[in-house]
Amino acid sequence: MSFQPAPTRSANIGPANIGPANIGPAHTGLANIIEAEHLGKTYKIGKLQVPALIDVSFAVKPGEFVSIVGPSGSGKSTLFYILGGLTRATTGHVRIDGVDFAALSDGERTRMRKTKIGFVFQKFNLLPTLTALGNIEIAHEIAGAGEPLDRNRLHELTEMLGIGGRLEHRPSELSGGEQQRVAILRALVTKPAILLADEPTGNLDTKNSEAVLSMLRHSNKTFGQTVLMITHNPEAAAFADRTLLMRDGALVEPELVGP
Ligand code: ADP
Repeated sequence: MSFQPAPTRSANIGPANIGPANIGPAHTGLANIIEAEHLGKTYKIGKLQVPALIDVSFAVKPGEFVSIVGPSGSGKSTLFYILGGLTRATTGHVRIDGVDFAALSDGERTRMRKTKIGFVFQKFNLLPTLTALGNIEIAHEIAGAGEPLDRNRLHELTEMLGIGGRLEHRPSELSGGEQQRVAILRALVTKPAILLADEPTGNLDTKNSEAVLSMLRHSNKTFGQTVLMITHNPEAAAFADRTLLMRDGALVEPELVGP
């Protein structure tokens, strides 16, 4: 099967036209699975206040693949950590599947994060002493509500990602591209409704980048997972259904950005 970038659609914040996927992950069926409302984040360094996010609002529908693009320092990672419940916004609200993160206790937020969100990072973040399979099993154990690992799904994902023969290897014995595929498998095996990917191709060469992006898109279409991918690379962003642009901590309309 060959994978091509998605045709470019409206790069605006409007709704996307994606129907529900047949084997979609569990979510509550709300119109938006992610809602960011007037998000602001200010870091304090001593007496200095660093505004990293300024009044960021957008919504993502279940099953959409959205990329967030912007130069270094524009606030992408800060937004990623807030959306993933890893840090709190200074102002505004994040609703994940209708639940306001700010209204949750730390424990509830952690639980929500584990069950609803899968993370893929630039640096793969695999545990070096475990095999690829060990990394997947431990992630499932942490996220799972005591359910056994779905071996059929594991097999399906392994085939899709083309790493069938690599699961008994430790990360140091795998290429960067293979490690990122394992990290994607680890994120997908728990069937999260949302996959948050932070520069997933940042450490990969062009060939592996394309393969990883194709797989993200393929899994998005096959499993109906909502994917939010942060990148500074416009070519990577082209794999998404639509793109949000960030500049200086704010979302901007594409036509306002010069070449
Ligand atoms: P990006 O991911 O687009 O590179 P970031 O969200 O990392 O952007 O950073 C946005 C702004 O916030 C930058 O000015 C950065 O220096 C600042 N910043 C990010 N993290 C911190 C932090 N932990 N403490 C202070 N300032 C930070």
